[in-house]
Amino acid sequence: MVKSSKEYDVIIIGGGPAGLSAGIYTARARLNSLLVERGAVGGQIINTEWVENYPGFAENISGTDLTEAMHKQATKFGLETLVAEVTGIDIKGKQKVVKTSQGDFPAKAVIIAGGSERQKLGVPGEAEYTGKGVSYCATCDGPFFRDKAVAVVGGGNAAITEALELTKFANKVTVIHRRDELRATKILQEKAFKEKKIKILWDSVIESITGDNFVDTVKLNNVKTQKKTDLKVSGVFMAVGFKPNTGYLKGIIELDKTGTIIVNEKMETSVPGVFAAGDIRSNSIRQVIAAAGDGAVAAIGAEKYIAE
Ligand SMILES: Cc1cc2nc3c(=O)[nH]c(=O)nc-3n(C[C@H](O)[C@H](O)[C@H](O)COP(=O)(O)OP(=O)(O)OC[C@H]3O[C@@H](n4cnc5c(N)ncnc54)[C@H](O)[C@@H]3O)c2cc1C
Repeated sequence: MVKSSKEYDVIIIGGGPAGLSAGIYTARARLNSLLVERGAVGGQIINTEWVENYPGFAENISGTDLTEAMHKQATKFGLETLVAEVTGIDIKGKQKVVKTSQGDFPAKAVIIAGGSERQKLGVPGEAEYTGKGVSYCATCDGPFFRDKAVAVVGGGNAAITEALELTKFANKVTVIHRRDELRATKILQEKAFKEKKIKILWDSVIESITGDNFVDTVKLNNVKTQKKTDLKVSGVFMAVGFKPNTGYLKGIIELDKTGTIIVNEKMETSVPGVFAAGDIRSNSIRQVIAAAGDGAVAAIGAEKYIAE
């Protein structure tokens, strides 16, 4: 694999709100900065139609428009963007080397902003019917379920946001939750309880997903009564948690037991010159505003590290 002869001041891994915010700060500080993103720039929030809680947008803004504006702003200050997958980091020397599918890139400092991914439920039928009724993104796949019955699995903010989004298309949305109360914020809960199309099945878990070419039934078990029932649905949306994108960092940087990167309040990791920001770091509140804030803190830390 080719090694770039150019040494960057800062390489940022991930083009979500955390990486983009870091890029605005490092590029504006006149640091040679490269952002490496394996997919579409914007991160998870591009799956959201409206962001209602990012300050400054009283009339709402879409996740795509918000992150496109961030990218434009960073690029204006000189941030370079490379579409590639980061597969490893060499942190042994003072110079760090970021290994990617497009070659190796040296840098003085690295900011890891790779975010997280939706967790799989791990039940029979899930893998088989992914793309054939099983989905991880209501905004992406909701329109395929117009006037159909769907289920959403989970009880947190993501699950209720997905359920509300799906009421725009589906004629019935059943939220399947293994506990007897939701973890979602009160505002979201109130919206869900008011919405006539949403029904919540408490204390219930999916045992398997079945169908023919496409999903048509989920087999349920009530964890309190052990009563087994079938629910006829055309779609199952999984919203059961997140998995940080830290697979390539195991044994290199200190991670907590959930796999997120341990940082201090300066977003410094266990390795000098390597910072982490956004959903990928420990104790993140997993919101755009927090990711953007972390990106700024990490960038200022990287700037100081390089100056010293
Ligand atoms: C359905 C949904 C609705 C949401 N609604 C809201 C909301 O209304 N308001 C709010 O504040 N937050 C919301 N969030 C949460 C918000 O999207 C996240 O908190 C935020 O996007 C985190 O930003 P990030 O930059 O840390 O990570 P991400 O947005 O996850 O971005 C990380 C990026 O890194 C890239 N990447 C990962 N690993 C690699 C690698 N090895 N090589 C190269 N690139 C890599 C990924 O492709 C991704 O683009 C929502 C999330 C979801 C899923």
